[in-house]
Amino acid sequence: MKAIVDKSGCIACGLCVTNCPEVFRIGSDGLAEAYADVTGSLEASASEARDGCPVSVISLED
Ligand code: SF4
Repeated sequence: MKAIVDKSGCIACGLCVTNCPEVFRIGSDGLAEAYADVTGSLEASASEARDGCPVSVISLED
């Protein structure tokens, strides 16, 4: 599974990084990005990051 961040809407709150640092990080542009695939053990925390994003710009795709 892959995580996708629509950077155009990201407000750089950092919550996704807090919820799932194995997949999300703040990039050099100051906005969130997904830097790793969502493997099985990370699905729960990546889903939490998606659901917790205050502007709903995270999606997860198979
Ligand atoms: S939770 Fe959403 S708004 Fe906050 S840094 Fe992550 S992608 Fe951006």
